[in-house]
Amino acid sequence: MDNDDLGRSISYGEAALAYLKGNQTPAYPRNYELWYTYAAGFNRELNRAINEHLKRQGRVTPEATEHFYEEFLSPVRLSDRVGEVSNQVSSEIGGLLGMLESSGANVRGYGESLRDAASGLSAAKSNNQINKIVQHMLTATNDMQSKNQDLESQLAESRSQIKELQESLEAIRYESLTDQLTGLANRKYFDESLELATAAAKRRGEALCLIMCDIDRFKDFNDTFGHQTGDQVLRLVGAAIKSAVQGRDIAARYGGEEFAIILPDTSLGAAVTVAEHIREAVMAKELIKRSTGESLGRITMSCGVAAYREGETAESLIERADACLYTSKRKGRNRVTDEANPTVAARRSQVA
Ligand code: GH3
Ligand code: MG
Ligand code: MG
Repeated sequence: MDNDDLGRSISYGEAALAYLKGNQTPAYPRNYELWYTYAAGFNRELNRAINEHLKRQGRVTPEATEHFYEEFLSPVRLSDRVGEVSNQVSSEIGGLLGMLESSGANVRGYGESLRDAASGLSAAKSNNQINKIVQHMLTATNDMQSKNQDLESQLAESRSQIKELQESLEAIRYESLTDQLTGLANRKYFDESLELATAAAKRRGEALCLIMCDIDRFKDFNDTFGHQTGDQVLRLVGAAIKSAVQGRDIAARYGGEEFAIILPDTSLGAAVTVAEHIREAVMAKELIKRSTGESLGRITMSCGVAAYREGETAESLIERADACLYTSKRKGRNRVTDEANPTVAARRSQVA
């Protein structure tokens, strides 16, 4: 690194720290990386999006920072890694082709030795001559065998490297479809899955339901206890949702504090029961601040449940589940609303 680079990178770093401070965002590596990239102007799309956001909102909150990271930097990281793996795969293929070529040459050489031996045999007059030919064949065969052994061990080595590459690709794919905070499916995976699920429901004439949930008054919670503690709550809600779903269900973080669950082959009544389980599980947990043991009370969730109508699009199913969720909010939160029963009363243990 020359002096120019040193000076430039430090000034980007300082600018990144100033942005973090100005936006009251913790200097965690991902946040720092985002603002460093912004300061350096490496990613024009990112800068344009942040500038527009600043014009509208005045600042970039930590959750907006997370959002920008997911949108602009995560894919770059992943595509870098995908590029790396694909380079490795092509060099592995190159190696294999080389191996096959030289083994082809070996086999051809061996074939020639055998042909020579055959024509030598037909012309052989004495025991001694035959003996020589057999000796020659033995040498060629031993040689072929040892080359084959080399080939076999090279193939075994290649096979294990290819398996490793496959695992890396699988890990990259998993990461690109998972929400980092909660470990649930991310929005991208949700969108893809709902498209597939509606198409499958249509094809098979099966039931399909969608639950949308949103944490109640979460902004107040964050404002009171801090964003970090808010993130812990999101993890907890993620865990509650994970343990309420099963089999082919897909639970996703739909956005900030919103969750969505796709329930294939499930009736509206059964989906409402799942939503109720989630709502009750979240509310049942008394939140305790780890560092101080202080009780932070409880949080609640509102949910909406809609059943797929034959022929409708994924967007229209989302809209209807969302409308039910909105009804839950309007009617006082901490409840589940479905289309068949839009006025479901809040349950006994409701917290306002
Ligand atoms: P309502 O009951 O109407 O849903 O009220 P609300 O305060 O939950 O709704 P609103 O949409 O106004 O606020 C959502 C808040 O969720 C804003 C933000 O503070 C919080 N939030 C969104 N994403 C995250 C996140 O990733 N981490 C944390 N800690 N908070 C988040
Ligand atoms: Mg919301
Ligand atoms: Mg909310």
